[in-house]
Amino acid sequence: MAGEAQSDCLFCKIVAGDVPATVVRETETTVAFRDINPQAPTHVLVIPKVHYPDAASLAAAEPKIAADVLREAGEVAAEEKADSYRIVFNTGTGAGQTVFHAHAHVLGGRGLQWPPG
Ligand code: 5GP
Ligand code: ZN
Repeated sequence: MAGEAQSDCLFCKIVAGDVPATVVRETETTVAFRDINPQAPTHVLVIPKVHYPDAASLAAAEPKIAADVLREAGEVAAEEKADSYRIVFNTGTGAGQTVFHAHAHVLGGRGLQWPPG
């Protein structure tokens, strides 16, 4: 069924507590944890607890939870005292997506170039 945990999904395993992560915030619908390979002083991933392969499919099926992910991304930035930050949803392998469970990258704590390349 849509949204159900996938046994082969790394981020579903983090939600279930089967893979450890450095969790910085958790709500009823979301988990935020530090990226294992940080690209900036602040690099936190915010994920929905439900499984959807990317942000757009999450938003189409569960708009409230998609909004929860965005709100939590802002809360992470505030907690990390990042006054300038970037929220990124890589979508598709050509855009660098490697984990097919929707996630927002929250990047901050250094200057960020635009366009990102
Ligand atoms: P994507 O490339 O799909 O946009 O982002 C996936 C992110 O997950 C990458 O930035 C990668 O470093 C991170 N990642 C991959 N495996 C793990 C893990 O086991 N734990 C954590 N905390 N992050 C991971
Ligand atoms: Zn998943």
